[in-house]
Amino acid sequence: MKAMKPACTGPLGLFGNPVEHSFSPLFMNHALSLLNLNYRYLAFAIEESSVKAAMQALRVLGFRGANVTIPFKRSVLHYLDHVDDLAQKIGAVNCILNNDGVLSGFNTDHAGFIKPLVNRGIRLNGKRALVIGAGGATRAVLTGLVDHNISHILLLNRTERNAATLIDWCAGELQFTRIDYDGPPSKLEQKALQSVDLIINSTPVGMHPDTAGAPLSGSLHFSDHQTVYDLIYNPWETMMLSRARAEGATVLNGFEMLILQGLYSLAHWFPRREREIFSLQESIVNYTRQVVAES
Ligand code: NAP
Repeated sequence: MKAMKPACTGPLGLFGNPVEHSFSPLFMNHALSLLNLNYRYLAFAIEESSVKAAMQALRVLGFRGANVTIPFKRSVLHYLDHVDDLAQKIGAVNCILNNDGVLSGFNTDHAGFIKPLVNRGIRLNGKRALVIGAGGATRAVLTGLVDHNISHILLLNRTERNAATLIDWCAGELQFTRIDYDGPPSKLEQKALQSVDLIINSTPVGMHPDTAGAPLSGSLHFSDHQTVYDLIYNPWETMMLSRARAEGATVLNGFEMLILQGLYSLAHWFPRREREIFSLQESIVNYTRQVVAES
């Protein structure tokens, strides 16, 4: 089937379910306008049974690319023509490039997660991390930590079976075995918390609208040698980050990760504009934060 050429404005998109709450159309369209690129970025809520048809629509309607979010980052792998090595290793695609009907899949969550740590000069080499959660995002998190020579990982997860699957994947795909399951987050003890340098929340606990929740018990204490990174970006500061900051830890939310995975996607779609795309990071963060705060 011959691809349609968009008559004027080119389409880009986000496929997931739900997508109504997503900030991506807001900041991606802002970035496109700053770059003077005649494209529009739209969010599409689809069903699992429509993933194959949605990929065909990308080809037929001449999309330059698309992002994929929960819950299709894994299932979409079956409908792409190429998947790069990193996305293959992580087992999840969140960015698709359409080159004349040939769809290639990438994972930009990985770079989005690790860059904010690197940019702040937070060294991972030889450090110990505590990771909470064993879902899709955790695979990108673990890949980033292992790539940056983390020395040991303590894994907490509500469901032990899912933690065991992740540990097997880590040993197989990442060749990393210094990872131990330490029970559900609610059972963590102070001694174990004190033994790590970096704490990462990769669960939705504490996310809007249930902002009173926190993955770790309020009786535990952080310290000023620790970095606490919550992948949640709504609210800006989760209950866990607020406590960690008050106790002197360095804190990081998921907002920069969100913006960066989008900028890395734009760089896949418009590689000649890469330098300009990344130079916009700060202004896009500020713009998005301001619009969200006002809404
Ligand atoms: P996922 O695949 O659905 O995994 C969710 C994980 O959280 C699982 O380990 C699950 O445990 C755990 N969990 C869920 N509800 C829980 C609860 N009430 N109590 C304890 N544990 C719970 O989701 P994901 O894609 O990995 O995403 C995880 C988080 O990262 C989400 O908040 C998402 O918004 C965020 N994220 C942010 C970015 C960004 O750009 N900032 C990118 C990707 C993801 P079980 O195994 O027991 O089910």
